[in-house]
Amino acid sequence: MLRVGITGGIGSGKTTACKLFEKLGVPVYYADNRAKELMVDDKQLRHSIIQNFGAESYLEDGSLNRLYLSSVVFSEEKKLELLNSLVHPVVAADSESWNSILERKNFAYSLREAALLIETGSYKLLDKLIVVTAPEEDRIKRVMLRDGSSEQQVKSRINAQMPDSEKLKLADFIIENTDLISLAQQVKDIHERIMKLL
Ligand code: ATP
Repeated sequence: MLRVGITGGIGSGKTTACKLFEKLGVPVYYADNRAKELMVDDKQLRHSIIQNFGAESYLEDGSLNRLYLSSVVFSEEKKLELLNSLVHPVVAADSESWNSILERKNFAYSLREAALLIETGSYKLLDKLIVVTAPEEDRIKRVMLRDGSSEQQVKSRINAQMPDSEKLKLADFIIENTDLISLAQQVKDIHERIMKLL
């Protein structure tokens, strides 16, 4: 089974593209969402987060105190590295077992969706890489609509990320997400090209 990564900047349309791959029968591992789930459900990880970041990392109902944690990790780079170093091995093991179940089910390929596949070096463990891009003004509008963020907030998140020009250098396949019809067509084309590689 081929392992294919799909990445792109904030609001480029990674998740939207992945939903279309899923419609074609491709299994998708949403690494960022899964990380958030594991931070709550994995007892050992929860314990190490509390040890390193304090009990206030979780709210009274047991859910993640995202506001607190993001204020800590985004104010100090070392703290972000520490959190990543705790979360990353747990997600890696989880995705490994997810992939090995799929191997037994004879899927041709699986997708791994994450915002940071290149920056973390995880792309090196994958066979192919898809990079999703979209015009910056569309990304800003779409994220403002989706998250209720301000234009300035979205722009500063875009500016903090690796530029698309760098990501595209490593891409085996590129999706230009200008509109939903062309997005669906590009997903279908890439799916067919990957199937032909096998
Ligand atoms: P993030 O990195 O922030 O998780 P993402 O790359 O996964 O973002 P999506 O969540 O797929 O991006 O898309 C961002 C928003 O834009 C969503 O609300 C989605 O429905 C919308 N969207 C995606 N593609 C298009 C499109 N071609 N036309 C209109 N809206 C779109």
